[in-house]
Amino acid sequence: MEFFLAWIVCAFICAFVASSKGRSFVGWFLLGLLLPIVSLLALIAVPSLRAPAYIEKEQRQAARDSKKCPECAEIVRRDAKVCRFCGHRFDPERLIYSDGIIAKKSYKGISYTLYDDRHVEADVNDRLMKWPNTTAFKGYIDTIR
Ligand SMILES: [Zn+2]
Repeated sequence: MEFFLAWIVCAFICAFVASSKGRSFVGWFLLGLLLPIVSLLALIAVPSLRAPAYIEKEQRQAARDSKKCPECAEIVRRDAKVCRFCGHRFDPERLIYSDGIIAKKSYKGISYTLYDDRHVEADVNDRLMKWPNTTAFKGYIDTIR
């Protein structure tokens, strides 16, 4: 009986630790029942889904997919044509991204990013390069393509 109780408690500990790490409570409870000691050890090894690095990555992704409305300063989806908070219509030619990006375009098959200070960044042959403006960027691409 005590053994059985300890087993259940172990499975519950598993489930609680797992959910504190942002993982499935039920899934780890069942795993704790099946393999009590092994799953506890496994839990120590698995990274927390709430670890700062993970959250940071999510936030960076969210920033890339969003832009700031110039009227009401709310964050909306990057592809939105109308602000869902105030109804502001975004000028498709001059999208303001939340991180200072105006536009993402492509020139001769190379995608580049235009920033609000007019400088251009692009990955050329797996290397991030910068130019002071679009003319300089296109001039460079013309020499290599
Ligand atoms: Zn708005």
